[in-house]
Amino acid sequence: MKVWINGNLVEKEKASISVLDHGVLYGDGVFEGIRIYNGKIFQCDAHMDRLFASAEGIRLPVPLTKQEIVDAMYETIAADGISDGYIRLIVTRGPGTLGLNPFECSGGSVIIIADQIALYPPEMYENGLNVIIAKTRRISSEMLSPAVKSCNYLNNIMARAEAVDAGAAEAIMLNADGIIAEATGDNVFIVSEGTAITPPTEADILIGITRKVVIDLCSDLDIPMSERAVTVEQLYSADECFLTGTAAEVIAVTKVDGKVIGSGKAGAITKKLLAAFRQFIQTECGK
Ligand code: PMP
Repeated sequence: MKVWINGNLVEKEKASISVLDHGVLYGDGVFEGIRIYNGKIFQCDAHMDRLFASAEGIRLPVPLTKQEIVDAMYETIAADGISDGYIRLIVTRGPGTLGLNPFECSGGSVIIIADQIALYPPEMYENGLNVIIAKTRRISSEMLSPAVKSCNYLNNIMARAEAVDAGAAEAIMLNADGIIAEATGDNVFIVSEGTAITPPTEADILIGITRKVVIDLCSDLDIPMSERAVTVEQLYSADECFLTGTAAEVIAVTKVDGKVIGSGKAGAITKKLLAAFRQFIQTECGK
């Protein structure tokens, strides 16, 4: 497996960065998780826009243009012959001093890792995930914009650890006000009386690219849709719940904190949106 670092494709064993890189010292950097379907980068422009917006959000100059990064991603997948897989794209602050000052760093590293993706098994898309609501809250916008996809994922990781402790597949995080924000690596939707509802950006979420595709699909399919606050009670009593994300795509949630959601199986609207999402991939990537 080859890794692209600052212009060079190297074997993964030789792919290394400085221990003084603030990405290592402080999680000071931004990243994207991107799907490759049929040799094409899915939602490429959206990922590039979010990467650059994240970088701007932490005042990190990206040392390459969007087009240079796209070219480097294609070079990386070609090197390993990957036609269906996943790219992890990282921009770090670069090597600096042991102090926090980001402006003493000598320039960011761009890293591209392409690999296969471990999907949830097909039966999980039918039977749905068992999730918990984590005690760990999502970082609020007063602390750091949740729209920044930063390399510092510790609050999500602590929530995910709670899920592991509980034997659950995922954890849903509340924001500081105690309303639903998102899962540790996915956005959340519920379906209530035929309407798909997802927390708005003000609920302290990462603005997911899959979430946006699904919102647009709701409109195409005439499924009523609303971006509004979702309470824990509304989640427990929803007819359906599902998560959206680059890796998971669209996956049902059928148990939250031990309570069965809807019929206990993937609901009709969830299935319809998953089928439409897979169709959308075919249209965009010709798969
Ligand atoms: N929320 C968080 C915290 C995430 O890490 C991700 C995955 N990038 C998502 C939501 C889903 O975003 P996307 O659909 O862009 O993968």
